[in-house]
Amino acid sequence: MESLKGKTAIITGAGRGIGKSIALKLAKLGANIVINYRSDSKSIEDLVKEIEALGVEAKAIQADVSSFEDTKNLMKKTIEVFGSIDILVNNAGITKDGLLLRMKEEDFDKVIEVNLKGVFNCIRHASPIMVKQKCGKIINISSVVGIAGNAGQVNYSAAKAGIIGMTKSVARELASRNITVNAVAPGFIQTNMTDALTDKVKETTLNTIPLKRFGSAEDVANVVAFLALPYSDYITGHVINVDGGMVM
Ligand code: NAP
Repeated sequence: MESLKGKTAIITGAGRGIGKSIALKLAKLGANIVINYRSDSKSIEDLVKEIEALGVEAKAIQADVSSFEDTKNLMKKTIEVFGSIDILVNNAGITKDGLLLRMKEEDFDKVIEVNLKGVFNCIRHASPIMVKQKCGKIINISSVVGIAGNAGQVNYSAAKAGIIGMTKSVARELASRNITVNAVAPGFIQTNMTDALTDKVKETTLNTIPLKRFGSAEDVANVVAFLALPYSDYITGHVINVDGGMVM
């Protein structure tokens, strides 16, 4: 059975939802975990304790992924505490939905800053460390709307499509350094992000899912675990949809 014992994994936006599930999954596989969060909250302390109870180390580090400086510090502090960055999961994301004709400039910019530039910032500062280590796994959380588009999500789908292009370019640049870079594209996953949608939108979406159920955060975490483990060592530059067949 493969494990992540002794590895260090950073998960951005790990305080809740998919990020939290990924943090717990990688911890169960033996990795020491850096929980990145943006807003301070008691739930982060609880998560540190929950992960430590699994027999690995956990450290919570505050950083806004849209800040170049914050993400530089995130990587620096991780090295100070754990000495390596073996796995980087770029999960932090936001939505500011609205139809194109009414979308405010700041709502477009904000989503690009967090969801796309945030991924660049983290990769930019983690990759020199991974290059020095001569190994690393970068896993970016995109979305199926970055592939298929979605009315009302011009900003979000552009950012998520950008992540796919970035994944493939960085995969090509870092392959010779034994660093793999892949993306996971979730469909409709039940979290705070999707709880905010109306029942009508949920019902319409369910009808487009061949497996006839919404995904769970654990469905996504399982695929991230596969990409973090040596099982996927010969896979780079790919996007794996976790969407019950919604986009194929
Ligand atoms: P969520 O429950 O809203 O959680 C998002 C997390 O990202 C929160 O912990 C949030 O922290 C953090 N975050 C937001 N802005 C940040 C920033 N600037 N710096 C650092 N952390 C930040 O969302 P989720 O559903 O778990 O989504 C996780 C990822 O999956 C996102 O990239 C999302 O786009 C993607 N995804 C989700 C779905 C879905 O159906 N749920 C589908 C496709 C893709 P704060 O609480 O401090 O803001």
